[in-house]
Amino acid sequence: MSDTFRMLINGAFSAGTSSFEVINPATGQAFARCPKADETLLDAAVAAAKAAFPAWSALPVEQRAASIEAIAADLEVRASEFASLLTTEQGKPFDQAMGEVIGCTYVLRAFAGMRLEPKTLRTAAGNLVIEHRTPLGVVAAITPWNFPLVLLMNKLGPALISGNTMVLKPAPTTPLTTLLFGELCRAHLPAGVVNIICDENDLGAVLTAHPDVAKIAFTGSTATGKKVMASAAAMVKRVTLELGGNDAAIVLDDVDPKLVAGKVYAGAMTNAGQICVAVKRAYVPSAMYDDFCEEIARLANEAIVDDGAKQGTTVGPIQNKAQFDKVRGLIEDARTRGKIIAGGEVLDREGYFIPPTIVRDLPDDAPLVREEQFGPVLPVLKYDDIDDVIARANDSEFGLGGTIWGNDVAKATEIAKRIDTGTVWINQHLAIDPNIPFRGSKQSGLGGELGEAGLHEYTQAHIINAVELA
Ligand code: NAD
Repeated sequence: MSDTFRMLINGAFSAGTSSFEVINPATGQAFARCPKADETLLDAAVAAAKAAFPAWSALPVEQRAASIEAIAADLEVRASEFASLLTTEQGKPFDQAMGEVIGCTYVLRAFAGMRLEPKTLRTAAGNLVIEHRTPLGVVAAITPWNFPLVLLMNKLGPALISGNTMVLKPAPTTPLTTLLFGELCRAHLPAGVVNIICDENDLGAVLTAHPDVAKIAFTGSTATGKKVMASAAAMVKRVTLELGGNDAAIVLDDVDPKLVAGKVYAGAMTNAGQICVAVKRAYVPSAMYDDFCEEIARLANEAIVDDGAKQGTTVGPIQNKAQFDKVRGLIEDARTRGKIIAGGEVLDREGYFIPPTIVRDLPDDAPLVREEQFGPVLPVLKYDDIDDVIARANDSEFGLGGTIWGNDVAKATEIAKRIDTGTVWINQHLAIDPNIPFRGSKQSGLGGELGEAGLHEYTQAHIINAVELA
């Protein structure tokens, strides 16, 4: 079992005060040990980031950009090593892991190229008003286990280019790719600019409450996000929350149900459904309901469910046992209220495997429809009236994403305007781009990431308003 992973504190690797096992979800067995921080090491990491801030923020932006570019270049060279580790700790098929790693290089390079120039707001009558954007200080980045690397880059890119320093804390079930990434940070950044600590779900709250943390960039569940927000309130810290979702796919009546079933299937089952913006409920017109269900069930039955490290695997395991049990519970409930037309039984083997499962004829109040399943289980629901389906799609505490599938894009766009989520994709899915802002409405988040708006979240406006002395 590998015991070589190290945290990064003030430019030095740290074995921590203890360690814990990291499990390969494809086997259910531990394959590595992860070093663990205690509160003293957490303090040291924050202190290092605080000490590194003045010099890092004072560097010309081109130098910070060059460091980020160098990290991206190294990540590209080592992409297959990172992807292989990602598959082992997270479970996703290797090609999807490669997609995540390469996606990281796009995000880093996009932010390395972004600039926040001072904005002149007024020059009239001898009054010069300029808005500068200044960095915040130490940013704590707390990440979940579904996309441990790219969700980190969405924070690291904007935080570093705008002059902040960081303490990163990955999820305890997927800490290793973040620790490997620490090698690149150590090679290309001054000591203390990026620090990485690991925990067993016990240090997140300590980190968010730390008086020297200026901003918390959090991606995870809505339940934990609320705790983060409460913790930030004590010192009015800046906070970005990227939280859960229950995205609806609305299929319009002018499409070929077979074609769209394939696209909705991919949107629901990629990464075994463990995507914040996965399709989590599909609404299909009554007239094509049976055809759509038949086709999506056929696709689910064709999936190759296996260890993500095996070539040809299309659906890997659920990332951890707690999530596996939660998804199983939702399937058992759905079995009593609707009809399972594909999947439905966990695989009788080691690891946390649930095959793609399609459920039809569920009532709208079933937990599988109301809650975020975060697994490869899709309820397909029937509708007759467009106003009714829009109301049902919006009847959720979440408001992250959603998709509309229709041949008439203008009509789909009118429907999209009425969907209360941060993003609506039309005839495509997961078109996340570092240059396009991404954010949730309602309880799916606060603030946002990516794009210039995402960069602004790591800075504050600083207004200088000058007139001649009269
Ligand atoms: P989680 O909330 O359990 O954990 C996320 C992180 O928070 C982990 O690093 C965890 O250790 C840490 N944490 C735990 N308790 C904490 C506390 N009190 N204070 C601060 N940090 C604490 O989430 P998860 O189960 O790892 O991830 C799955 C969830 O993430 C899903 O709900 C999913 O929709 C959401 N998610 C959202 C987005 C988005 O962009 N909106 C993206 C990916 C995942």
